[in-house]
Amino acid sequence: MKNDIQKILLSEEDIRKRITGLGLEIDRHYEGKEILIVTLLDGAIVFTADLIRNLSIPLRLDCMRVSSYGDSTDPETAPRILSSLKTDVSGKHVLLVDDILDTGNTMKRVHDEVLAKNPASVHSCVFLDKPDRRENDFRSDWTGFSIPDEFVVGYGLDYAGRFRQLPYVGTLKPSVYENS
Ligand code: 5GP
Ligand code: MG
Repeated sequence: MKNDIQKILLSEEDIRKRITGLGLEIDRHYEGKEILIVTLLDGAIVFTADLIRNLSIPLRLDCMRVSSYGDSTDPETAPRILSSLKTDVSGKHVLLVDDILDTGNTMKRVHDEVLAKNPASVHSCVFLDKPDRRENDFRSDWTGFSIPDEFVVGYGLDYAGRFRQLPYVGTLKPSVYENS
């Protein structure tokens, strides 16, 4: 697995420090309120697990699944909601959490879906952002790291379902794509 990594972009230490900072910012923003975290499966589970352990505000958790890349690295332009929320979001402060903001199509789709259900507020927090790839005007309220336009894996992000368990974020060697 480690032999498949070309370059480490973000180390475990980089990630840990940044998430501590995000936790403080989000705690401060929502002081005195309870939030509903809506995490996007599967990629955001590792980030969400670490983020919530850095939050002190009361929170509940729900998950949504949106259609993704399958085994290719090309994004779909019209993501479909494959499984929706168990929670009634009306009147709640919703924080959407995803692994990476790429074209922005996934987050825009989910944001519109949640907004239509009368929440008290909707904000978003993404672990990574690739601003060069944006296809719409979606902007995340909190971002872990902005990265260049490269396909990355690790810390929840996969390639063909693999590499999610890496504790860092890196790029893959070309041989991994050639052999899959
Ligand atoms: P968007 O809809 O913003 O184009 O894409 C969002 C989704 O595409 C992310 O939630 C993630 O699942 C996937 N994605 C985008 N860029 C990357 C990447 O560099 N690596 C991986 N593993 N997934 C990505
Ligand atoms: Mg995703």
